[in-house]
Amino acid sequence: MNFGHIKKVELHTHLDCSLSYELVKKILPETNLEVFKEKFTGHGCKNLNDYLKCIDRSLDLMQNEEQLNLVVVDFFDQLKRDNVIYVEIRFAPLLHLKEGLDPLQVIEIILKKCKSESQKSNIKFGLILCTLRHFSEYESLETVKLIKELADEMIVGFDIAADEAGYSLDNHIKAFEFAKKNNINCTAHAGEARGYESVIETLDMLDPQRIGHGVTSCESTSLMKRLIKEKIHLEICLTSNLVTGLYKNIREHPVNYFYKKNFSISINSDGRTISNTSLNEEYKKLSQTFNWKEQHFLNCNLNAIRSSFADEKTKSDIILQLKNQ
Ligand SMILES: [Zn+2]
Repeated sequence: MNFGHIKKVELHTHLDCSLSYELVKKILPETNLEVFKEKFTGHGCKNLNDYLKCIDRSLDLMQNEEQLNLVVVDFFDQLKRDNVIYVEIRFAPLLHLKEGLDPLQVIEIILKKCKSESQKSNIKFGLILCTLRHFSEYESLETVKLIKELADEMIVGFDIAADEAGYSLDNHIKAFEFAKKNNINCTAHAGEARGYESVIETLDMLDPQRIGHGVTSCESTSLMKRLIKEKIHLEICLTSNLVTGLYKNIREHPVNYFYKKNFSISINSDGRTISNTSLNEEYKKLSQTFNWKEQHFLNCNLNAIRSSFADEKTKSDIILQLKNQ
């Protein structure tokens, strides 16, 4: 089964978790497929921490302008194969400073290349800057302030990622307050490595419009009601939740439950390399496991674009493209 003909919207994908084998080989010619699988993909992961460790190897290949440009081109090639028409790409600018770039330069390089690739491919995009759970209050604030400083319409949001179970939200409250005060859209990873109480805590403390994952929310009826009432969109990353050991097999995953309960959900790759997946692959799994048809995918893609951080004109253009395919 092939899902390349379906136009797609992707809201949750990390640039630094999505390097293809071809790209890694270009930067590190001595890499063979076995080494790539061993070091860059998450095939041996048991939990989120193992998953996060895999990212360090990719990050080492994203430290100068030439490398960042190659990564963006490679990423858009993957999006093209998935027939993505709108994407929100996230990364943490403070993780690319090892060879002397400053955070502003990192964003400017990625932004410029995304703009040119977007023009060539006609894939619309927005960038989301990530703070990380283990960052200090200063680093978190520094990250969100970059969004205001650059004030580029293609930088559309702020996110918190990384080790949910190991670090509290305390260092990040001020950064999210800054975002609110400056009308910066926010999403936050939660309910991925901890239970539903982590989603409640994140909503209470950070007040994001969307939750990355949030799958453990289904353990609490009152939280489920709250998500519906407050129109919180869930960015679902099916395979990623299997790789991090949250679910043993796809059948256990609540994606179909959320869909049936009319939640606003989207289907996402999270980390294309580390989860060893693509959107076409995710759609195939949904079709095979839950018998999802084109209407299911269309509904999720419509929910995704409506919950995206794109401007209204982009949203209506994409909605039209989705409905007329
Ligand atoms: Zn993620």
